Amino acid sequence: MTLQEQLIEKTERYSAHNYHPLPIVLTKGEDIWVWDTDGKKYLDCLSAYSAVNQGHCHPKIIQALKEQAEKLTLTSRAFHNDRMGSFLEKLCSVAEMEMALPMNTGAEAVETAIKAVRKWAYEVKGVPNNQAEIIFCEGNFHGRTITTVSASSEEEYKHHFGPFTPGFKLIPYGDAQALEAAITPNTAAVIMEPIQGEAGINVPPEGYLSATRHICHRHNVLFVLDEIQTGLGRTGKMFCYQHEHDAKPDMLIVGKALSGGTYPVSAVVSSKAVLEVFTPGIHGSTYGGNPLGAAVGLAALEVIEEENLAERSHLLGDYLMRKLEAIPTNKVAEIRGKGLMVGIELHKDVGPARPYCEALMERGMLCKETHETVIRIAPPLTIEKENIDWMVDQLTEVLAAE
Ligand SMILES: *Cc1c(COP(=O)(O)O)cnc(C)c1O
Repeated sequence: MTLQEQLIEKTERYSAHNYHPLPIVLTKGEDIWVWDTDGKKYLDCLSAYSAVNQGHCHPKIIQALKEQAEKLTLTSRAFHNDRMGSFLEKLCSVAEMEMALPMNTGAEAVETAIKAVRKWAYEVKGVPNNQAEIIFCEGNFHGRTITTVSASSEEEYKHHFGPFTPGFKLIPYGDAQALEAAITPNTAAVIMEPIQGEAGINVPPEGYLSATRHICHRHNVLFVLDEIQTGLGRTGKMFCYQHEHDAKPDMLIVGKALSGGTYPVSAVVSSKAVLEVFTPGIHGSTYGGNPLGAAVGLAALEVIEEENLAERSHLLGDYLMRKLEAIPTNKVAEIRGKGLMVGIELHKDVGPARPYCEALMERGMLCKETHETVIRIAPPLTIEKENIDWMVDQLTEVLAAE
């Protein structure tokens, strides 16, 4: 057995099998590159589902991590720490919001958003207790906790995990009329992704987000965007909703690249009017807002701004899209996306995307299929044009017409 086979065997023996990774063992990462234990180098076109927008082991983020790790890592929120304020000040400025509530993982931040909008519904909007409804979209992905899968339409995420959290309604994604029809006097919020990532890079029709915002405001319903995957530069803007005029949400949920892939940091960012429903003792997290996460989060946000990563994503994403559309192949049904968040949907009769991801891996390009038939392309936003040329060459050969 090779070293990689031994490591995979050990991992598979002791780990619950809740993932089906490609057969590769990574040991090192730098910028857009990762290396396996044989020393083979790969171009990372997944970026840990957009957590590594700034590139692997970004020197500035790692420096912040090291310095803070040697000083103070965790106080709990029983005491103030000297890093959280500056981090949240930066986050609020980047998100153009007034207040933030820091958590750790994305799913926890979504749970926090759900708690916030329910409490707002009872205490501000005046919905009768325990009657609040939240509207979600079919095909959504908001995490893997019981409550976030309760809001899912995906049978695979839910099978034998019931009973589920009540109070959620599903509507078709991309249909503003369906949203308006689903609103009742008890609706607290609509929570959606501005592009559905896990569902296969589903881009809604132009104008959908601003229409949603206006419908929400007309009915005194909070408009909440889960930008955990689409935010922080990924789609060619700091936040994906900024592609549309007048589509700013009442609340943003962020995670993933908020720490540049070093340490779980997430947050809910909103107005004072909404987040002031939280009073001492009613919600919390031992690690949420810890000084290590705060130091890393501040550095991660600074890197996105200093290196113009949103602008890079916009320019290079357009370049990538044009090149992908020019690939001579009869296997591709559709290419979708914004910025450097792109999905290549294969024709149904071509079969699953996984063998193509395996073939790309052999060629030194790491991708992961999403939703069976979609090859997802989402490299770190620090990628250069010549790397995109190389990437498209690999795809061209793998997708060559037979
Ligand atoms: C990844 C993701 C989540 C969940 O984040 P975790 O850190 O894995 O809990 C939630 N929403 C969206 C849109 C995501 O992409």
